[in-house]
Amino acid sequence: MINPKKQILAWLLHNANTNPTSIGRDEFYKIKDTILQRHGAHRGVYDFQHIQKSCWTCNGTGVYPYPSAQGQVCLRCHGTGWYTDFWVRLDVWEFGKYEFHKPVSRLHWVTLARLYTNEKISPRNIIDDYIAHESRKWSADCNLILFFLYAPKLFWRAFGRVGFGRKTPIAFLCTCVFELRLFFQRVRGMVHGIKKRMFKKQSENTEIDDIDIPF
Ligand SMILES: [Zn+2]
Repeated sequence: MINPKKQILAWLLHNANTNPTSIGRDEFYKIKDTILQRHGAHRGVYDFQHIQKSCWTCNGTGVYPYPSAQGQVCLRCHGTGWYTDFWVRLDVWEFGKYEFHKPVSRLHWVTLARLYTNEKISPRNIIDDYIAHESRKWSADCNLILFFLYAPKLFWRAFGRVGFGRKTPIAFLCTCVFELRLFFQRVRGMVHGIKKRMFKKQSENTEIDDIDIPF
């Protein structure tokens, strides 16, 4: 049983992980890594994630669909029909009551097949495509709290400069500050424009006055 502070941290990480914010995805994964290394436990098992994206040029057929090149092998996917096809080895970590995946390496399928044949690996699960996370309601707030705790410089750089929606309290506050900043920027822009126009008018009047001088 872990202490309540760690339970909260695990909950924050779990929710933030469902949708890493626009503050910085790379930085988020660094924070996740730090937390898991410090508090999590590597379960000693791993999953494999299979990512495949169909080739748009040949619509996944492997041959060009254009009349001028009909029947010719599509060079974008080399006739495989897949624009992207790779495997990612994911280490499974446990923190609190949650399980987290940590990408370890990207593998080409040939490498994977060789590893399978030699029975060097036995993944726990094969996950097709990207992992879909269900609950996203608290993700923005949890991301903001984690950045505040682990990367305060980035937090303050993003706070009030990015909108995070209005669903949860911290995201709401951040979005309000962001919109206020935008409002004042617009007002400042308008005042600047009015001043510029007034200055232009004044200088035009001065020019006319100069011409009207009788001597
Ligand atoms: Zn193709």
